[in-house]
Amino acid sequence: MSFSVKQKYRGRLAPSPTGLLHLGHARTFWTAQERARANGGTLILRNEDIDSTRFKLEFFSQMIEDLRWFGFEWQEGPDCGGPCAPYHQSGRFQLYRAALEKLHRSGFIYPCTCSRQDIRNAARAPHTEDDEPIYPGTCRQNRKSEIVNRKYSWRFRVPDGETISFIDGNRGPQQFTAGSHFGDFVVWRHDDVPAYQLACVADDAAMQITEVVRGDDLLVSTARQILLYRALGLNPPAFFHCPLLCDKTGERLAKRHDALSLRTLRASGKTPESLRQDGF
Ligand SMILES: [Zn+2]
Repeated sequence: MSFSVKQKYRGRLAPSPTGLLHLGHARTFWTAQERARANGGTLILRNEDIDSTRFKLEFFSQMIEDLRWFGFEWQEGPDCGGPCAPYHQSGRFQLYRAALEKLHRSGFIYPCTCSRQDIRNAARAPHTEDDEPIYPGTCRQNRKSEIVNRKYSWRFRVPDGETISFIDGNRGPQQFTAGSHFGDFVVWRHDDVPAYQLACVADDAAMQITEVVRGDDLLVSTARQILLYRALGLNPPAFFHCPLLCDKTGERLAKRHDALSLRTLRASGKTPESLRQDGF
């Protein structure tokens, strides 16, 4: 007997505590919260603190405070727990290692000894839309046993020429071709830390996220992640990409735009209500 059960909506906010939250983050997160609310769903806060070299503890507590001040309410998270704990990526390495081993056993990844400079210097290294050089494939035949006394990353071998399609909830039908819009990508860094793509997929699957709402700078990464879901035998969630907020010169807001950090705006007397009206 089989019958379908409509999955309950689960969305997430996934900030990195590497700087102050700014209005651009708040806008994307607000869309995520509104979509979770509209669907009667659950909102999860995940602390993406995997990059210990850039992570500062003070940013985590400031992040929680800024999110609450702005009006965010999550039902599961690092500060309130939940069934998928821990909600800090730094506490979830076992899950990421298991995913890496699965990819290795199935032959989807290979060890890569190239430096960033090697890749930039490669004759055919055009850049993708998200400014990631397309990996020239130098190490595709490498075996781990052949690498002695050298640091290496693990890279995912993309199916060259295959078109990855998905329907974005905001932007409509999307298509990216492996090998031309994006190349082989790192899933585990040479400093023994999982790369964003792998950690994100492993967590979204384990936390049973049904829709990922994020900035459209990650649109191409969605194609990469769909390949990872497939390789790991997991179902991808739905995706909803929001336009990123730009400043008056048209430049995308980055964390260095301190004038637009929630903290600075709050100190200057702005209220969350006024920011939602002005900036959204
Ligand atoms: Zn390489």
